[in-house]
Amino acid sequence: MAKIGNHAVVLGASMAGLLAARSLSEFFETVTVVERDPLPTCPAARRGVPQGRHLHGLLPRGAHVLEELFPGILDQLVEDGAHYVDGRDLSQVHYEAGGHVLVRAGSAPSFTAFLATRPFLEEHVRARVRGIANVTLLDDHDVVELIATSDWHRVTGVQAVNRRTRDDVRLSADLVVDATGRGSRAPMWLNAFGYESPREDHVVVQLTYVSQLLRIPPGVLHEWGFVVGAVPGRPRGLGILRSENDTSILTVFGIAGHEPHPDLISMCEFVEDCAPPHLLAAVRAAEPIGETTRHRQPSSRWRRYDKMRRFPEGLLVIGDAICSFNPIYGQGMTVAALEALALRRCLSNGTRDLAQRFFRLAAIPIRQAWELSANPDLSLPEIEGTPTLLTRLLNVYVDRVLTAAEYDPVAVDHFLRVTSFIDPATRLLRPDMMWRAALAKQRRRRIHQPPGGNGMPSPASTLRSSVG
Ligand SMILES: Cc1cc2nc3c(=O)[nH]c(=O)nc-3n(C[C@H](O)[C@H](O)[C@H](O)COP(=O)(O)OP(=O)(O)OC[C@H]3O[C@@H](n4cnc5c(N)ncnc54)[C@H](O)[C@@H]3O)c2cc1C
Repeated sequence: MAKIGNHAVVLGASMAGLLAARSLSEFFETVTVVERDPLPTCPAARRGVPQGRHLHGLLPRGAHVLEELFPGILDQLVEDGAHYVDGRDLSQVHYEAGGHVLVRAGSAPSFTAFLATRPFLEEHVRARVRGIANVTLLDDHDVVELIATSDWHRVTGVQAVNRRTRDDVRLSADLVVDATGRGSRAPMWLNAFGYESPREDHVVVQLTYVSQLLRIPPGVLHEWGFVVGAVPGRPRGLGILRSENDTSILTVFGIAGHEPHPDLISMCEFVEDCAPPHLLAAVRAAEPIGETTRHRQPSSRWRRYDKMRRFPEGLLVIGDAICSFNPIYGQGMTVAALEALALRRCLSNGTRDLAQRFFRLAAIPIRQAWELSANPDLSLPEIEGTPTLLTRLLNVYVDRVLTAAEYDPVAVDHFLRVTSFIDPATRLLRPDMMWRAALAKQRRRRIHQPPGGNGMPSPASTLRSSVG
C-alpha cells in the first residue's frame, strides 16, 4: 500500500498504543512508539500499567480484532498457555448481572473467551508489534512536550527525555497519536496551544479494586469464571477467571467508596454475602501468589474530542486517553482495538480532516461501551447522578432481558453478543428479543413455581442455591 506520510509517533506502548502502531504501520514509512517504562520481553507487570495486576477479560469482539490485526495470535496465546473457553456449556460460568444469575444449562454459541493475565496478553501483542519491520519501540523515554508550528495549527513532533541518560530527544512526525492512558496531558497541551479542552462526561463511581493471583488446584472448581456485579443496596462484587500457568486472578470490588481491605481474608469477607459458597471455599484453600494489589478509580470519564470544533492537525488521541470506563465491564481493551480499526479506516481515506473523522468514528464503539456501563451504574442508588428518562427506560428493559436470561440460553446469547460488541445494542430491540423480554417475568414464574406451589423463595435465590 502507498504510504501517506514519513513518520508517525505513538505516545505510550500499552494496548491502545501498540494497536494504533499496528494500524499506522500500513500508512507511514516508519512508526516510533515512545514508552516511559522499560518494556519487558516476557509477560511482566509494569509501573505504567498498574491495572495489569488486576482481572482483565478480553471480550470476544476484542479477540476478533486482535486476530484481524495479528493473524494467528489467538492460537499462539493458547499454545503458550492461555485458556480458550466457549459458551457451549453454560454450567462452566457463573455470571450474575443486575441481580440475575444467567442460566447455567444449555449453550450460548457466540460466546468465546481467551483467558490470560493482562501482562501475558500485552506481551503477545507487543511481540507482534516488535515483529513489524517499520515499527520501533523506544522504551525508557518520557514524553514531556508536543512540538508544533508557530501558529499552533499543526503538531510536528514530540520532545522526550531518555530516562537512563536524561538526554533530550526530539522526534519530528507527520502524525502524533497520544495513547498515554487516563493520565493523558492532551487537554493541557491543547490549552497551551490556544485550543479549548474537550468537554468531559463523568459518572462518579468511586471504585476500588483489590486483586490477588491464586493457584487453585485443578479440578477443585468446575467453572472457569465467576462474575458477580453490584446491585442496589450491595455496592460490591467480584470476578475471578482462570489464567495461564494454572493460575486464577481474583478481584473483589466496591463502588461508592466501599473498599475491600487488601488481604485475602478480608477480600473473602467483603464478598461473603454475594459469592457462591463453593467459590469462597476454593479461594480460602488456594495458594496466594505474590501480594494483593489495590486500584482506585474515581469515575468513568469520556473526553469529548468528537465534539470539538477546532483541533490541531497532526495530532490524535486514542484509548483510555479518550475514555476510561468502569473496568468491571471489561471493555477498555476491546474499545482500544475497535479504535485502532477506526484509525486504519480513516487513514485509508488520507489525512484530510483526520482528527474530526477519527474522533467521530471512534465515538461509535465508545458510545456503545458507555451506554452498556454508565447506564447500569446510574441505576444504582449508591452512584451519584440522575439517569435520563431514556436511560431509566432502557434499564427497565435490560432488566427484563436479564430476567429472560435466567432460564433461556438464547437470551443469554443475545445479551452477551451485545455486551461483547459483536452486535450493536439495537440487537436487543429485535422482535424475537422483545417478545422474550415481554414474557420474561411470567415465564420465569412458571418455570420456577412447582405445580400448585406458592410462597416459594425468589427465583434468583433458587437459582443461586441450585448452583452454589
Ligand atoms: C483496574 C482495571 C481493570 C481493567 N480491566 C479490564 C478488563 O477486564 N478488560 C478490558 O478490556 N480492559 C480493562 N481495563 C482497561 C484497560 O486496561 C485499558 O483500557 C487498556 O489498557 C487500554 O489503555 P491505554 O493503552 O489507552 O492506556 P494505558 O493502559 O493506561 O497505558 C498508557 C501507557 O502510556 C505510558 N505513558 C504514560 N505517560 C507517558 C509519557 N509521558 N511518556 C511515555 N509513555 C507514557 C504508560 O507507561 C502506559 O504504558 C481495566 C482497567 C483498570 C484500571
